[in-house]
Amino acid sequence: MNLTTHFTLEELNGAGAPAAVRTNLQSLATLLELVRGLNGGQPLVVTSGYRPGDPRQHGSGSAADMRVPGRDPVAFANRVAPSLSPNAFGQMIVYPWTTRHVHLSLPNGAARGQYLVETGKGVYVRWTPGTPVPRYGTAANAAPLGDGPANEGAASLEGLLYLLGGAALLFYVLR
Ligand SMILES: [Zn+2]
Repeated sequence: MNLTTHFTLEELNGAGAPAAVRTNLQSLATLLELVRGLNGGQPLVVTSGYRPGDPRQHGSGSAADMRVPGRDPVAFANRVAPSLSPNAFGQMIVYPWTTRHVHLSLPNGAARGQYLVETGKGVYVRWTPGTPVPRYGTAANAAPLGDGPANEGAASLEGLLYLLGGAALLFYVLR
């Protein structure tokens, strides 16, 4: 069932989902349609949508992972960011060094218009599109995700990073 022109309920794993989840998935498809257009209409391949039981935003149908065939995830973010209102989404997380996917969530959590880059397993740093992304394994810019729901990786590690604050770098180096 099409939710928007290019996105279906099925590819977001919403068939049979609770009504509240389906409502979120409708909003999510609308958001995906928006960024698809901002990226020049290139196809987006959804690799993960609703994940029942996920304590993070995927668990409420509020986030999707996607790939842009033939396009680097950073290039994708750089292209859409200038025209994407910070109020239109929660978090956009790019994974340039591992899975090369982009995670995008609805602005229905604490985070608004937040860009992040995965720089280690369960490690995310704030990033401004249009600037160089920190390399994998470099924690110099490590910042805790204290103000929004993290969506991938080890939640416990993120919690530790938040609590440790300035010690996050040391923690990362030692792990
Ligand atoms: Zn995700």
